[in-house]
Amino acid sequence: MSDLLTSAAGSAYLVAAVLFILTLAGLSKQETSRRGIVFGVTGMAVALAATISLAVRDAWGQPGWALGLGLMVVAVIVGASIGLWRARVVQMTGMPELIALLHSFVGLAAVLVGWNGHLTHPELPGALEGVHSAEVFIGVFIGAVTFTGSIVAFLKLSARISSKPLALPGKNVLNVLALVAFVALTVWYVVTPTLGLLIAVTILALALGLHLVASIGGGDMPVVVSMLNSYSGWAAAAAGFLLNNDLLIVTGALVGSSGAYLSYIMCKAMNRSFLSVIAGGFGIEAPRASGEEEQGEHTEITAEQTAELLSGASSVVITPGYGMAVAQAQYPVADLVQRLRAQGVTVRFGIHPVAGRLPGHMNVLLAEARVPYDIVLEMDEINDELADTDVVLVIGANDTVNPAAAEDPASPIAGMPVLRVWEARNVVVFKRSMASGYAGVQNPLFFRDNARMLFGDARQAVDDILRFL
Ligand code: NDP
Repeated sequence: MSDLLTSAAGSAYLVAAVLFILTLAGLSKQETSRRGIVFGVTGMAVALAATISLAVRDAWGQPGWALGLGLMVVAVIVGASIGLWRARVVQMTGMPELIALLHSFVGLAAVLVGWNGHLTHPELPGALEGVHSAEVFIGVFIGAVTFTGSIVAFLKLSARISSKPLALPGKNVLNVLALVAFVALTVWYVVTPTLGLLIAVTILALALGLHLVASIGGGDMPVVVSMLNSYSGWAAAAAGFLLNNDLLIVTGALVGSSGAYLSYIMCKAMNRSFLSVIAGGFGIEAPRASGEEEQGEHTEITAEQTAELLSGASSVVITPGYGMAVAQAQYPVADLVQRLRAQGVTVRFGIHPVAGRLPGHMNVLLAEARVPYDIVLEMDEINDELADTDVVLVIGANDTVNPAAAEDPASPIAGMPVLRVWEARNVVVFKRSMASGYAGVQNPLFFRDNARMLFGDARQAVDDILRFL
C-alpha cells in the first residue's frame, strides 16, 4: 500500500512538472495565456494533493502526529486565506510589489528549510555528509539573498523608500568580497558543519541581498524584479535538494531559468548589461546630473483643444504608461480609439517594454478594455513611424518617452531605448503635474515646441475629450 502511494505520488509529480512546462509555454502568448494559467493551477493542485498524501502517510502513527498534521492544516488554511484575500484586493498597479513580497517568502522558506537541515541532521554515510552540508549552506545563502533583496525591491516599488540607487563607496569591492567570503565559508562548513558558520553565512547573505538591490536605480527595477523571480526559483530548487523532493527541484529550476532568461531579454531591450545588473549595478557610475530641474517653458492644452487636434488628424499613436494604470483610463481610452477609428483615423498603440510597473502591464490593461491586439505595437515596430504621425497621445507615461535617454549621456537613464514620440508633428502629454517619472528624471519632451501638457487625471481628461469629439 505504502509502495503504491510512493509510485502514485511520483507519477503525480511527473504530471505536475509537465503541466508547469505547458504553463510557461501558454504564458508566452496573450492568446494562450488563460490556458497556461489553467495548466498551472491544475499542476499545483496535483502537486499539493500528492505532497499532502505523502506527509500524512509518513506522519501517521508517529508520536505527536495528530498535532503535526493539525498544525499543517491550520498553516495551509491561514496561508491560503491571506493569499486569496491579497490576490482579490490587489490593484494591477500593486502587482510588482506583491510579487516582490511573495519572492521574499520563497527566500525565507529556503532559509528555514536549510536551518532545519542543519538542526535535524539525518544519519548519512560519510561521502554524503559533505553533499548535505553544501546543500544546507548554498540553500541558506540563496534564500537569504532572495529574502532581503525582495524586501528592498518591495519597499522601492511601493515607494516606501527612494528608488534612487544606493552608492556606497567601493560597492563593487564589497560585493566581490562577500562572494569570496561565501566560497571560503562553504568550504569550511563542508569540512566542519558548525552552527556558528551557518549564522555567519545567513548574516552575510542577508546583507548582500540588501546591498545588491539597494544599489540598483529605479530605471533598472524591472530587471531586478525578474532577477529576484529567478533567484527565488533557485532557492526553491535548493530546498528541493534538501527535502529530497524532485518536483520542487524541477519547478525551482523552471522558475530559475525562465526568470534568468526574462532578465536577459529585458536587459537587452533596455540596453543594459545583464552581468552589471545582477551584480548590483556593477560598473554603472552614479549619474553626474540628477536632472530633476525644469528645463524651460511648457505649453498647456485643454481637453477641447485636444479634441480639435484629434479631429483634424489622420494618424494617431497612443503611448500609455504607469499613469494610465493609476487612473484606470484604459476604458475611456478604448472608447476614444473606437470613436477615432469610426471617423477614419488610423490609431495605433506604441508599447515600451517596461511601461508601467511590470512586464506586459499595458498589454494586460488594453486587453481588459478590449482593444484589438493588432493595433497594439511594440516599441521597435512603431518607433520609425512616429515621425510620420500627426498626433501622439502620451497617456501617463514619462521615462519611457524621455528624449534624455537618447540624447543626454549624463542622464541616469542614458542608453535606455525609448519611444521617440518627440519626432511626431504634435504630442499631447496627459499627466497631473510637472513631476518626474519613476526614475526621478525630468523630461525635456515637456518643453519641446511640438509638445502640449494636458494636466489632470488621465481618465477624466480622456472622458472630457470624448465629450468634445
Ligand atoms: P513613469 O513612472 O515614468 O511615469 C508615469 C507618469 O504618470 C508620471 O510622470 C505621473 O505624473 C503620471 N501619472 C500618475 N498618475 C496619473 C494619473 N492618475 N493621471 C495622469 N497621469 C498620471 O511611467 P512609464 O510607464 O513611462 O515608465 C515606467 C517606469 O517604471 C520606468 O522607469 C521603468 O523602468 C519603471 N519600472 C517598470 C517596471 C516594469 O516591469 N514595467 C517595474 C518597475 C519599475 P504625475 O504625477 O505628474 O501625474
